Amino acid sequence: MTETILALKRPAAFLDRDGVINVDVGYPHLIKTFRFIPGAPEAIKALNIAGYQVIVVSNQSGVARGLFTEEAVRLFNQHITQSLAPFGARIDAFYFCPYYPNAVVERYRADHHERKPHPGMIERAARELNLDLTRSFLIGDRETDIQAAAAAGIIGYLFKGDNLFSFLKSITPNGPISMCDFS
Ligand SMILES: [Mg+2]
Repeated sequence: MTETILALKRPAAFLDRDGVINVDVGYPHLIKTFRFIPGAPEAIKALNIAGYQVIVVSNQSGVARGLFTEEAVRLFNQHITQSLAPFGARIDAFYFCPYYPNAVVERYRADHHERKPHPGMIERAARELNLDLTRSFLIGDRETDIQAAAAAGIIGYLFKGDNLFSFLKSITPNGPISMCDFS
């Protein structure tokens, strides 16, 4: 029984980070500038309850541009995890791509297959975490997010609203998420 459950592929909600989970202040990396997008913790909690793996897929070209280090990205992500805890919300994994074709920092200079609009980050997460892409979707705030989703064969939703939880309910009107109400 246990083995059967472990073998099951799980659906995932892929979330872009900056502009979807936290306010995009322009290459956000300083914890003192961190601010949740309204409704983000509630949306993530709803996805947790509905059985989605919540996976962050984020381009972080600021690393390639020499603005901050990979370690700063990890610390910022850790801060997001810690800030979600009081809400009972959980991100299952963070993926980020530090590469950029016109990088200032030479070792990050590449048109990398994991940099959105390429689908590499989504595909790697699916492999490593045994995700079922046929039941997965992505939310991003840029066209390149949606293009990456399409290239990976999943639905991408362009978030242009001001509340992520309201947006999530609007795109899943008949889904389990519509049943969640934390207000
Ligand atoms: Mg974004």
